Amino acid sequence: MREPEEELKALEAQGLRRHLRRLASPQDATIELTDSGACLNFSSNDYLGLANSDALKSAFQRHIETYGAGSGASRLICGTMAPHLELEEKMASLKRSEAALTFSSGFATATGILPALCGKDDYLILDKLCHASLIDGARLSGVTMRIYPHNDLSKLRDHLLWATSKATDQSRIVIVTESVFSMDGDRAPLAEIVTLKEEFDALLLLDEAHAFGTIGPQGRGLAAELQLESRVDLQMGTFSKAVGLSGGYVCASRALIDLLINRARSFIYSTAPPPALAATISDALDLITGDEGTRRREALWKNIHLFSPDAESAIFPQVMGENDAALHASQVLLEEGFLVPAIRYPTVPRGTARLRFTLSASHRQEDVTALKNALARLLTDC
Ligand SMILES: *Cc1c(COP(=O)(O)O)cnc(C)c1O
Repeated sequence: MREPEEELKALEAQGLRRHLRRLASPQDATIELTDSGACLNFSSNDYLGLANSDALKSAFQRHIETYGAGSGASRLICGTMAPHLELEEKMASLKRSEAALTFSSGFATATGILPALCGKDDYLILDKLCHASLIDGARLSGVTMRIYPHNDLSKLRDHLLWATSKATDQSRIVIVTESVFSMDGDRAPLAEIVTLKEEFDALLLLDEAHAFGTIGPQGRGLAAELQLESRVDLQMGTFSKAVGLSGGYVCASRALIDLLINRARSFIYSTAPPPALAATISDALDLITGDEGTRRREALWKNIHLFSPDAESAIFPQVMGENDAALHASQVLLEEGFLVPAIRYPTVPRGTARLRFTLSASHRQEDVTALKNALARLLTDC
């Protein structure tokens, strides 16, 4: 039998072994690492600086007093409380959809939706750079799947033609894309994808994980920015990034949401998130869609444009190529006081190991300039 030590050695030899890094402080723009001390944090997805905000900390404490600490059961048994339903109503209204459902994470949302929606007689067409949770959801479903090169509309059309030629009148054809891609930071050509999905009578599942809170009117995402919400069948995302907490959501028609309540296994067979968390997420949504959210988004986009004038999101890849090059660059930056992770296979394709910077509203402008200078030094040195 294969020994785990041998597998770990093989990972180590390829520069692919991963280790946990311990934080000795809360999540913030400046953090304390147990091993390397204080540093500027350019690696979190806390885009609006809410994870450690006074507003959410005190809301969470208050809601625990009202609703208790745990939920005790899955949503369909006796775990559904007022805050869960109020949060879902709020999400549906924010996304201009009929209904919404929440999950314990974005990962659980993706792996719940796709097997509930598709089976072997259905056709799923997915962007090559889609997140692992979407790929795993697709695999779990047993659906017939085709992958198109990143943002390649003509290949997407070819796959739609193929799916249409195979489909029966009962088959679903589902297109899956993200609005902002998590490891590249670019956006999907959403308007064109919506036009195609209508031409072929397909469904569209859009993952707004990195767009929700950061893009569009009131931070409502890319579909909102392009006024396409009513034409996207399933809008999903997470409360773990710009919202600063944790959990996932999907917004869709009442019938699709009811189907998910009956079929999505990660919803049915998992304990409901703590009601105090659901209530705190609702407060965070009020904050994000209100004046405070607007101020934080302005600060975020000021930082983004300072770092790179024509950036499309708060995510910046610096492709280094080999794993060792990315690991070395990450280590050099850490020694200068910047936490920037090296992202490697299988998160990104082999040979495209990279540094991935993420900016937040809570970074000061001088922090962003310092990072920019450190990166320029690093790239001239190597
Ligand atoms: C982060 C992410 C998820 C998972 O969300 P969690 O709430 O962290 O589980 C899903 N999809 C995409 C595109 C993501 O970037």
